[in-house]
Amino acid sequence: MAKVVLVLYPDPVNGFPEFPKDYARDSLPELPDYPNGQTLPNPKGIDFTPGALLGSVTGELGLRKYLEDNGHELVVTSDKDGENSVFERELVDADVIISQPFWPAYLTPERLAKSKNLKIAVTAGIGSDHVDLDTANELGITVAEVTYSNSLSVAEHTVMQVLVLVRDFVPQHQIAVDGGWNIADAVERSYDLEGMDVGVFAAGRIGRAVMERLAPFGVHLHYTDRFRLPAEYEEKYNLVFHENIEDLVKNIDVLTVHAPLTDETSGLLDEQLLSTMRRGSYIVNPARGAIADRDAIVRALESGQLAGYAGDVWAPQPAPVDHPWRTMPHNAMTTHTSGTSLSAQAKYAAGTREILECFFEGREIRPEYLIVQGGNYAGTGAHSYAEKK
Ligand code: NDP
Repeated sequence: MAKVVLVLYPDPVNGFPEFPKDYARDSLPELPDYPNGQTLPNPKGIDFTPGALLGSVTGELGLRKYLEDNGHELVVTSDKDGENSVFERELVDADVIISQPFWPAYLTPERLAKSKNLKIAVTAGIGSDHVDLDTANELGITVAEVTYSNSLSVAEHTVMQVLVLVRDFVPQHQIAVDGGWNIADAVERSYDLEGMDVGVFAAGRIGRAVMERLAPFGVHLHYTDRFRLPAEYEEKYNLVFHENIEDLVKNIDVLTVHAPLTDETSGLLDEQLLSTMRRGSYIVNPARGAIADRDAIVRALESGQLAGYAGDVWAPQPAPVDHPWRTMPHNAMTTHTSGTSLSAQAKYAAGTREILECFFEGREIRPEYLIVQGGNYAGTGAHSYAEKK
């Protein structure tokens, strides 16, 4: 019997919804495989209704029946930070810890050292930077995540936030809500995206999906990544490749950020880099909050160097109520929601179940889901994290 500790965000303040009565829609569309041919999560079974809220405490990622039928113990909590938290208390004898990047259960070296029974840490989503991966390696703990599960969800959110910033949607909507009709006020910062130079930092699954979705807007697409994309792909979308982010940001009006958080990318969007951008540039960062220098972003918005900043990732999470990104000018921030739409939850809950089935049955976890295994970076982790720490 294993003890599984599942850290999820809190339930809705007005109570947990009943499916389908309390939901906006009754079902989710059937989807094909991912664009690169990777199959959708493929567990032997699921015990949830796709489209139901799974990511908060009562939703339990739909895992309770499966785990208890197999004789395991499941502890679910949203109380994750501080020495007196439920998570801190429960992790000491946990065999499996699962959390989501939206509400990350930070697994620091100290916490990992205390988790004497821990065998696997699963990220229900993408991005395992909340786990100290070097320590997980030292201790032989497996780390796995549900690669691709919510990449397209994030790409959609990114496109939305690019448009929200450039069109200046937020104040226009507020005028409508407030009963006003001040057209001149509403449009004084509103532009068309058409014809702008849009630059993507890191053309992985999300970055490429953003470019593919933005291409029909008649923008000029630029990107940088550690490796150049195939020539046919560049030609198809008329992409301009830049050797590095320094060169990229000088040549664009809108920057979108899609790299993992590593030592190399931490704090990359700093005062110096921002100062080289065109005046009035926009940034959308749904990758990780710590890739940007918090206060440099605020200053650039205040000075007009940036015309807008959006994204849904903060450092730390949840962000404190006085985090300056909540109130800085011309922001269209959301809380970390882009990858946890009800559609995305169905995918990463199924992927988490698939990983657990493999783990408990002694079967191989798909390499694309692996970050760390047997003391080494493995699968996706070997590619994404190993040399960039
Ligand atoms: P991928 O692994 O598919 O793409 C990441 C890309 O970043 C790769 O092309 C990689 O290049 C590139 N890269 C890494 N480091 C650098 C660097 N220093 N300079 C330039 N390029 C770099 O991941 P996804 O697209 O699926 O996700 C990207 C990130 O988005 C995740 O790591 C996560 O942090 C975040 N995310 C956020 C979500 C949200 O809800 N807001 C949900 C899902 C993900 P290479 O292949 O050469 O290593």
